[in-house]
Amino acid sequence: MANWTRRGFLGSLSAGAAATSFAAQQRLTQPEKRTGNGSIKITDLRCAIIGRNPVVRIVTDQGISGYGQAESTKAYLRPMVLFYKDYILGEDPTDVEKVLLKIRRLGAFKPWGSAVSAIEIALWDIAGQVAGVPVYKLLGGKIRDRVRAYNGGVRFPMTGQTPQDYAENTARMKESKEGFTLIKQAVGFHNPAMMHAMPNGWYDEPRTGTSHADRGLMTERGLDHVIACVEAMKKVTGKDIGLALDCGPGWTVKDAITFARAVEPLHITWLEDLITGDYTPYPNADLFREVTQSTSIPIHTGEQIYLRQNFKDLIEKQAVNVIGPDPEDVGGIAELKWIAEYADIHGILVAPHGIFDGLIGLAAHVHLAAALPQNYIAFEYPVGQPDWWYEIVDGLPNPIVKRGFIDVWDRPGLGVTFHVQAAKSHLADEDRHFFD
Ligand SMILES: [Mg+2]
Repeated sequence: MANWTRRGFLGSLSAGAAATSFAAQQRLTQPEKRTGNGSIKITDLRCAIIGRNPVVRIVTDQGISGYGQAESTKAYLRPMVLFYKDYILGEDPTDVEKVLLKIRRLGAFKPWGSAVSAIEIALWDIAGQVAGVPVYKLLGGKIRDRVRAYNGGVRFPMTGQTPQDYAENTARMKESKEGFTLIKQAVGFHNPAMMHAMPNGWYDEPRTGTSHADRGLMTERGLDHVIACVEAMKKVTGKDIGLALDCGPGWTVKDAITFARAVEPLHITWLEDLITGDYTPYPNADLFREVTQSTSIPIHTGEQIYLRQNFKDLIEKQAVNVIGPDPEDVGGIAELKWIAEYADIHGILVAPHGIFDGLIGLAAHVHLAAALPQNYIAFEYPVGQPDWWYEIVDGLPNPIVKRGFIDVWDRPGLGVTFHVQAAKSHLADEDRHFFD
């Protein structure tokens, strides 16, 4: 056997080695590939609620940690994250897919895919640090040096529910220092304040107590009011800034078509989640397709959907024009990349959801967006909540957004780190060992 090593692969061929010896030959002539200073193993999985965002930390035996984050609306997530701990301890975190094979099946539509998604992002953070490259390199490399973000998270309180109030609110968003080129506003059943403020807007009682609980057939008065608010907002954004509308869920197919056709002259960038969305635990591809085929306005959905398989119908039936998976709900950034590629070959665009994804999530969005194909529009910009989040994270550009874009950075992994001492002062007592 020692002779094989000295002769090398070509020598073995000339000696007439059987093809079945190839694997053994490889082992003899090429040392086992190791990462960093040696093999790396996951030694712990932790979750702390920092501010309003659950933060996931994967600890390794090589002094490298990876971080991921879940939406700021999910402060209850800790036990769901820790549920996966025993599945991933001892695994090599740089074999991201192998780790995910163990846990991906144990997730579901929003919010139950969040923990798997945050773990996936933390694994890529580690893999990038071990390889010494930014995460976008591991997703296929960047095709753009700056990524467009849409607004999103920079919001101002409403002063009322008239078209004039919506115009004024949109003007403030337009004037924000980030200079967004695309603004999203909430209308219809996605906006209970708008709907509940008008008498007899639709044929059901206003409902509260869970997110986006209203649905039903709109009255003529209700539909007219929504359209008037949209017209007022579009007057403000003009032709240079796109206006997208988060609309539902809860519209009937016919109301959705009537509404979409009414706003066609306004060139709305997309209409989001008219039929299903947010916390709806299924996509309704056939109904979306009926709306999509009936209007020239792009129809959008997908923020609550978990995994590529659940986008299959929407994409293959071309049921929508734009999909908006959230990396913190869909199963992570590589999962979203795969879905975006599959959408692209079906002529469907991608605008990832992200309003509540926090600053670690923002970093994940930037690396992902750098590597997405040319069907990419923009991702939804998250903000740090509360404001002190900007003081505990290092590595983000300052300012983060310039004229609606974010420059892609090149530090290894996600390229953002915690100021541990500063961050520790914001930890709840039960999370006090999170950074130890
Ligand atoms: Mg939405």
